[in-house]
Amino acid sequence: MNIDLSRRGFLKLAGAGVVATSLGSMGFGEAEAQELALIRPYKLATLNETRNTCPYCSVACGIIMYTKGDVHQGQADLIHVEGDVDHPTNRGTLCPKGAALKDFVTADTRLTEPKIRRPGSDRFEPITWEDALDKIARAMKDDRDENLVQFNEAGVPVNRWTTTGFLAASATTNETAWATFKVVKAMGIAGFDNQARV
Ligand code: SF4
Repeated sequence: MNIDLSRRGFLKLAGAGVVATSLGSMGFGEAEAQELALIRPYKLATLNETRNTCPYCSVACGIIMYTKGDVHQGQADLIHVEGDVDHPTNRGTLCPKGAALKDFVTADTRLTEPKIRRPGSDRFEPITWEDALDKIARAMKDDRDENLVQFNEAGVPVNRWTTTGFLAASATTNETAWATFKVVKAMGIAGFDNQARV
């Protein structure tokens, strides 16, 4: 008989099995049945599981986010965050910062939309992602057209762009990091860093 059992399901079943077997081996057959009937249903069983990466540091630990509601409509409540046991980096462990991620995600002060401080203004105001990306692209193009250094004094092609810098995220996948590096360097940007300085 084939049983489709996830690792989590297996651990849950194995845990219940240990309780039952222990009681059974001591001759508490009825107690065993009652114990199993009283085992609290696994509290995360009905929630959605979403795999993600801890955003804090360059270790980039894998996490599982448990939500209730429709995640695709952005109407889900985050109930619990834990380390991903199947992730090769952390194997289910999290440091104290990662373990407190739920509070980070649900904090009132969390920035959830792009903002702009317009020339002469002393405050930031919301802007759509579409407008923010258009503005960034326009500013980069104009600055590069004006300041790209194509040749050094000896006439050697260098294609250096030193008047714009790029700050990338370190807590990302290798693939995203690779693509980011290629794009930034292809444009000639010399000032390239991220929060982990790796
Ligand atoms: S859980 Fe801790 S070590 Fe892992 S990525 Fe997050 S901050 Fe870094």
